[in-house]
Amino acid sequence: MTRIRIANILKDGKPGEEVLISGWVRTRRDSKNAFSFIELNDGSCMSNIQVVIDNDAEGYSEHIKDVTTGASVTIKGELKESPGKGQRVEVQGNSIQLLGTADAKTYALQKKRHSFEFLREIAHLRPRTNTFGAIARVRNTICFAIHQFFQEQGFISVQTPIITTSDCEGAGEMFQVTTLNLNRLAERKTEVDYEQDFFGKRASLTVSGQLEAEIFATSVGKCYTFGPTFRAEKSNTTRHLSEFWMVEPEMPFYELEDNMELAESFIKSVIGKVLEDCKEDMEFFNLRIDKTLLETLQNIMENEFKRVSYTEAIQLLKDCDQKFEYPIEWGTDLQSEHERYLTETHFKQPVILYDYPRTIKPFYMRCNDDGKTVRAMDVLVPRIGEIIGGSQREERLDVLLDRMKECDLDPEEYWWYVDLRRYGSVPHSGFGLGLERLVQLVTGMTNIRDCIPFTRTPKNADF
Ligand code: ATP
Ligand code: MN
Repeated sequence: MTRIRIANILKDGKPGEEVLISGWVRTRRDSKNAFSFIELNDGSCMSNIQVVIDNDAEGYSEHIKDVTTGASVTIKGELKESPGKGQRVEVQGNSIQLLGTADAKTYALQKKRHSFEFLREIAHLRPRTNTFGAIARVRNTICFAIHQFFQEQGFISVQTPIITTSDCEGAGEMFQVTTLNLNRLAERKTEVDYEQDFFGKRASLTVSGQLEAEIFATSVGKCYTFGPTFRAEKSNTTRHLSEFWMVEPEMPFYELEDNMELAESFIKSVIGKVLEDCKEDMEFFNLRIDKTLLETLQNIMENEFKRVSYTEAIQLLKDCDQKFEYPIEWGTDLQSEHERYLTETHFKQPVILYDYPRTIKPFYMRCNDDGKTVRAMDVLVPRIGEIIGGSQREERLDVLLDRMKECDLDPEEYWWYVDLRRYGSVPHSGFGLGLERLVQLVTGMTNIRDCIPFTRTPKNADF
């Protein structure tokens, strides 16, 4: 007999069917009339299945006292129509096998509610809770939807390197990768000779796969990278991780408007898929995490994203009544409070800001004729702020070289990137979306640390 997932039973199980199920006990109640109720969960869905097991069932008398919250069991039985409300079927168990006990004195996940902060300290057990089981399933659906969106439109999935020796744009502080003996270097107090290091030069963990993606976009066509990304910023916010996953599509022959259109349809498509495939989990988030969640997501799905130039947005922020902690001026970057004002208070929907001052954006963004701005675009969403950052790339060799000089970058170090403008250069565009920020948006979770299975932040890399 093959084991069947509880999700499948709850969806299609018919009374009379024989089943074999395994999972973790959420609760057990003993009835005076010589049988027990077990709520069993196997993580395949939010709901538990109810098992009714008589005291003459095989294994009952030896094991039932150890069938406590958190214990793992295998049960054989038959599906019965359930008299209880909220469930169609239950299992009438005729044998129970105890796989692993869970000592009630020490098992941390007893039936009460636990704070998310506490659960972060027991990351090895938190996916067994309703909330974190749901996050894991929704995150999975999002990842699948991301691949599906691009694959259906003919994008090629490209794996870009995790270890890199080029510091893409200085997008963020980088983690260094080295095999040099740091203790010995500290003793000697000499300059570091990177020629002696593993790669013969200074190497780091990637902050973005964009530059490498551009190589493939200008050879095999529309492509995307989807992988881990690392930033060593010491920012302790609810929107920053030191290790996160980024999706970076890169498209030849796309101008900024095409890029915006793709970003918008991409976000809508992924949210649509989650709303369709994760109904039970999404209802849970709407009930327990954020009561306006489904409404917010519907609103995102149904309306066109507002497109506003950076310059217009600055004017708007300067003219509004709201007092901000950080003053805003043309030429400064928006802070989270500004982004949230635009998406939550003013427009009440996602906003795409474009044409940013070149002084606050990286060298590879295409320069506008006004001599002041570049073809950058950020997609801002309610509650999170920036979820996507992208741009049309500078495809003109001379302009790119000028910009590199302006940014104090040595074209020699980026010789291969510059070469792409030397041989068959084409207009092209792309963007980066942070997976965990999307998970945050879709689940309503307030802290990004709860949106990734294993959290890496300053001073924290356990599990
Ligand atoms: P922010 O200004 O919010 O710190 P950024 O402008 O530095 O972000 P980009 O370099 O534009 O970020 O990266 C593209 C996308 O990657 C962002 O829009 C965001 O969704 C995501 N992202 C960036 N940094 C982080 C981080 N530290 N943790 C999680 N996601 C991130
Ligand atoms: Mn950005």
